Amino acid sequence: MDGGGGGGEDCCVKVAVHVRPLIGDEKLQGCKDCVTVVPGKPQVQIGTHSFTFDHVYGSTGSPSSSMFEECIAPLVDGLFQGYNATVLAYGQTGSGKTYTMGTAFKEGGQTGIIPQAMSAIFSKIEALRNQIEFQLHVSFIEIHKEEVRDLLDSSLSAKSDTSNAGKVNIAGRSPIQIRESSNGVITLAGSTEVEVRSLKEMAACLEQGSLSRATGSTNMNNQSSRSHAIFTITLEQMRKVNQGSPGESNLNESMNEEYLSAKLHLVDLAGSERAKRTGSDGMRFKEGVHINRGLLALGNVISALGDEKKRKEGVHVPYRDSKLTRLLQDSLGGNSRTVMIACISPADINAEETLNTLKYANRAR
Ligand code: ADP
Ligand code: MG
Repeated sequence: MDGGGGGGEDCCVKVAVHVRPLIGDEKLQGCKDCVTVVPGKPQVQIGTHSFTFDHVYGSTGSPSSSMFEECIAPLVDGLFQGYNATVLAYGQTGSGKTYTMGTAFKEGGQTGIIPQAMSAIFSKIEALRNQIEFQLHVSFIEIHKEEVRDLLDSSLSAKSDTSNAGKVNIAGRSPIQIRESSNGVITLAGSTEVEVRSLKEMAACLEQGSLSRATGSTNMNNQSSRSHAIFTITLEQMRKVNQGSPGESNLNESMNEEYLSAKLHLVDLAGSERAKRTGSDGMRFKEGVHINRGLLALGNVISALGDEKKRKEGVHVPYRDSKLTRLLQDSLGGNSRTVMIACISPADINAEETLNTLKYANRAR
């Protein structure tokens, strides 16, 4: 799919900001709240800076439950109409990306975006079951140092064996490769695609992958904060034949083909904090550089897509600059829908990174 097929204003990237409340640690340190959400407006202020986005959700603003309805539900609807979609959570480590996405299933409970998207998908399937046959697959991968790691590889699953924590062996497996078919569809060769038939089965995949992600790291500030975690739901639909008269089944008007396939990527991005802050040893620095490569490429791709004028001029969209953007290529731009959620901490000690996050998100608009 190229970047030219988009439908005008529908095509651009939506950007929302999620301001989390001050957390225990910050309160103990005596941090002050330095972020203001302007009442009734999708606007945030920090110091002398003011930014306007498509939506702002915060402790003092509208409740987070509306985030799903406003930002994610339209993507789920699109998925049933055959449109790919991507949700990206961006922000420094500790800003609430995992909480917002619900990537750590246990921690976020049912409130995160992923669990809510899963429920929404299954209730739609339930409603359409008589007319349409559905097939769902999920994959869950992590990109770390420009390498793709399969979080659903059951041979890696440490399950509840905590004695093995931190010792997951990632050597000795053939690397997962990102492939592009002649019609522009991106696939991951060598990663696990699990067919799921129920909400419970899908939730189990999310949980298994989260566990695998957590056991791959030894403390809060390592791998999981420096890697991108991508939970992908692929929905295939086959219209059932001999199902009433043609006029009867107009539940899904825009679906006039027999077969439809689309995917929804739910991405918990690596921490956006600067490489210099992750440590001075060579190894860490390299990781920092790689992460910046993904986030940098993503920023460039999204800003190229969001700029109507640039798109019309056919400006090059640099998907190939990182594994992350390469993998998301067929689900960013074109007819796909993208929502970026910039997660920020309100604490004054994080003001510098918060400002960086808001600038990055602002560029994506
Ligand atoms: P990240 O994934 O960006 O590193 P986390 O999602 O792990 O950040 O959040 C850091 C901490 O803040 C966690 O303890 C989490 O429970 C808490 N937190 C994040 N967002 C919220 C929120 N909206 N409300 C309450 N607590 C939150
Ligand atoms: Mg996290």
